[in-house]
Amino acid sequence: MTFDLTPTAAQHDLAKRTHDFARDCVRPVAAHYDRAQEFPWPVLEEAAERGFYSPLFYRDLIGDPTGLSLPMFMEELFWGCAGIGLAIVMPALALSAIGQAATPEQMLRWAPECFGTPGDLKLAALAISEPEGGSDVRNLRTRAVRDGTDWIIDGHKMWIGNGGIANVHIVNAVVDEELGHRGQALFVVPGGTPGLELVRKLDKLGCRASHTAELTFDGVRIPAENLLGGTEKLEHALAERRAAARTNGRSGSVTLGTFEQTRPMVAAQALGIARAALEYMTSYANHREAFGAPIIDNQGIAFPIADLATRIDAARLLTWRASWMAAQGVRFERGEGSMAKLAATETAVHTTERAIQTLGGWGYITDHPVEKWYRDAKLYTIFEGTSEIQRIVIAHASARPRGAHPCTWTSPPPAGPSTNGSAAAPRPAPRPPPPPWTSATESPPRSPRPP
Ligand SMILES: Cc1cc2nc3c(=O)[nH]c(=O)nc-3n(C[C@H](O)[C@H](O)[C@H](O)COP(=O)(O)OP(=O)(O)OC[C@H]3O[C@@H](n4cnc5c(N)ncnc54)[C@H](O)[C@@H]3O)c2cc1C
Repeated sequence: MTFDLTPTAAQHDLAKRTHDFARDCVRPVAAHYDRAQEFPWPVLEEAAERGFYSPLFYRDLIGDPTGLSLPMFMEELFWGCAGIGLAIVMPALALSAIGQAATPEQMLRWAPECFGTPGDLKLAALAISEPEGGSDVRNLRTRAVRDGTDWIIDGHKMWIGNGGIANVHIVNAVVDEELGHRGQALFVVPGGTPGLELVRKLDKLGCRASHTAELTFDGVRIPAENLLGGTEKLEHALAERRAAARTNGRSGSVTLGTFEQTRPMVAAQALGIARAALEYMTSYANHREAFGAPIIDNQGIAFPIADLATRIDAARLLTWRASWMAAQGVRFERGEGSMAKLAATETAVHTTERAIQTLGGWGYITDHPVEKWYRDAKLYTIFEGTSEIQRIVIAHASARPRGAHPCTWTSPPPAGPSTNGSAAAPRPAPRPPPPPWTSATESPPRSPRPP
């Protein structure tokens, strides 16, 4: 196993360019878009000009075999502002779903539609959650029914980023009632399709520069070619799932696969918020004086800063490990994606809350950005799977261990005679079983592959 944390020249350049963009173009306008709850079109234009808003950009990030480019980009961007960051990266979520489910032809057709080009930007949305079912995908009620060469979608979606204003909506719907959540498929619904209605833009606690909406689908008719993966692949998948259901076996869900892939990405976003808050509170504590000395001289202020610095680094390592695994095609066997998301998002909430406490009364008012970061961070323990759901995933994975845990592997001692002159060289330890992902029976998870 090689897991190298030295940034390559390209990663260094990416992190610097993203940080410059976040510092110069995002931070200065973050408070305005938060207050106005307005979509940050000019910032998206600038992001596109700088090459951060295109399917080719994500193709390069995902193509990095170390897996670290994607979380590096996310952390730097979200250090600037999570609301604006979400507006910029939302199409990548849809692209990830397309990458998992689409045919190469569909990918070529729809990926550019998710981003557009500078001067003619487009938006994309991934519409999974419903009023009755966010965590519980078995509760999803949106249905798609075949009608000749078309599909007709009826349903109700809630909390959809870019919902109703997107050019491309990737929508999941049940196509086989008996299979329930295993009988779902993903469809492309272009913006403006008759029957797709933006019921309301949601008024949010945080991440207010991003657009989040409630949508209804009332007899939305789309051509069969908008079924991601195509009819043949769907029929094949449904037949497999029916067979699995008969034998009480397990079979995958396209939707759940999407979330597992994107969790490290979301974790890195939360790390950006946490790092911003830590930097801010540390600087403040160094300058703010009380009782004749900087408040950081008090252990009550300094120790939490030390603890948070440690937690942020630990969460980043979990995030980078999960991203590295995804890039290397290593299956998440122990809930590694969920561990990263859980650690990073809970750390972000804790750090931003502590930042307010460190600033005292100044932290509670809008003169400083920490109250905004606190509101922004809270979203992260809720969307893309709540903290409770991450714990369920990790607990289930822990309950069915396979092979040796990576931390329990032992290296065989070096070959050759003993150097300490003692009589017998130590016997080589028995080789640990191979890690589960090297088994010929295991297939690596599919990574999203934009064109
Ligand atoms: C701002 C925002 C943006 C979003 N963007 C999108 C988007 O772009 N696309 C999209 O599809 N969705 C989106 N979502 C939806 C989000 O993913 C869901 O809100 C989330 O999955 C939680 O679902 P829920 O709100 O229905 O909560 P519920 O599932 O009703 O959960 C309520 C509470 O019960 C807990 N809970 C549920 N089941 C269990 C259990 N078995 N054990 C223990 N605790 C449990 C949960 O953890 C939570 O605390 C967004 C949400 C928000 C707020």
